[in-house]
Amino acid sequence: MTELTCIVCPVGCRLKVDEENGYAVKGNTCKRGEVYGKNELQNPTRVLTTTVAIEGGTHGRCPVRTNGAIPKSKIFEAMDVLKKLRLTAPVRCGEVVLKNILGTGIDVIATRDM
Ligand code: SF4
Repeated sequence: MTELTCIVCPVGCRLKVDEENGYAVKGNTCKRGEVYGKNELQNPTRVLTTTVAIEGGTHGRCPVRTNGAIPKSKIFEAMDVLKKLRLTAPVRCGEVVLKNILGTGIDVIATRDM
């Protein structure tokens, strides 16, 4: 049995996930918590939110995020890729700035106009 806190919403329910019983989840107050608990033990993923360097913008860095969750095990590798990325203004909010990061099928998008 593994105990963890659900991070899907600010309520932060305490979950118990039973690995020996089909990853049965207890302590969740909604279906999203059950899905989170199962995934967190079997294939944890995260949406990556960070900034990347941009030239010609009003600021030196542009806020970005992945447009879906990527495997948690690839977060540091993805950060290394984004550290090397250099954007050039103008960039529009929602614009894809990097396609298919690390072959995950997930794109990185800008989260503000620059
Ligand atoms: S189980 Fe549902 S209500 Fe509880 S923290 Fe997760 S998403 Fe929020």
